[in-house]
Amino acid sequence: MADKFVSILGVSFIDTNMKDMVARIEQRLLNHQKTFIVTANPEIVMKVLQDSTYKQYIDKANYVTADGIGVVKAAQILGNPLPERVAGYDLMRNLLTVVNEKKLKLYMLGATEETIQKAVQTIKIEFPQIDLVGYHNGFFQWEDQAMINEILEKQPDLILVALGVPRQEKWIAENIDTVEKGVFIGVGGSFDVLAGTVKRAPAFWQKLNLEWLYRLLKQPSRWRRMLALPHFALKVYEQKITGNGKN
Ligand code: UDP
Repeated sequence: MADKFVSILGVSFIDTNMKDMVARIEQRLLNHQKTFIVTANPEIVMKVLQDSTYKQYIDKANYVTADGIGVVKAAQILGNPLPERVAGYDLMRNLLTVVNEKKLKLYMLGATEETIQKAVQTIKIEFPQIDLVGYHNGFFQWEDQAMINEILEKQPDLILVALGVPRQEKWIAENIDTVEKGVFIGVGGSFDVLAGTVKRAPAFWQKLNLEWLYRLLKQPSRWRRMLALPHFALKVYEQKITGNGKN
């Protein structure tokens, strides 16, 4: 069946639930189809609207999934509902489960040296059949070719890129043309969660769709990033009324 997409402020989201998304990517992993996945929240959508260079990176993605209740609500408001959130951390863990079951190869890029080392330990314990072919911290000179050269040599199936927005999308967009295979996904602060330095919201908060509030309370320095939300809501209503809202 052909994929369906829902456009929100110029970003084309895949109309899928988590289960089907994982199945889709599993097929691509097994077929060695090169893939770029973005899990986009309202902050990313706003950045696409405001930054044409960043938009070019996102346009290179094969799949953009709805990360965050804000995107799901926006789709509903626009009359093209998306079934559920396909959040970055959850999608990453589901893909790690596939890579573990199939004994595939993993490469990890991002976070501080201390964090990535701890995250690697967690992966080894929780996903013992994964063939972890390499990892590198996320603080390097942009021109540094060492990581992409390692990826070219070791041919990982899944490449997790945790450099935060917008660096992770930029890095993937600039490097993916060089490789022959691999599923690349930007995973933001996920290595911090794997390392145990940042806690995910308890299930109760997640069920109420209040994960964003939990994170804000735990890391008040994030408040500035939340300012994108009212602006996002406004633009969504603009799109509903005018049919575009891309400016
Ligand atoms: N990071 C990195 N290199 C940088 C800047 C950030 O590897 O130059 C890492 C940072 O250590 C953290 C992740 O990127 O692990 C970004 O986390 P954040 O919570 O900002 O992710 P987001 O909310 O943007 O997905």
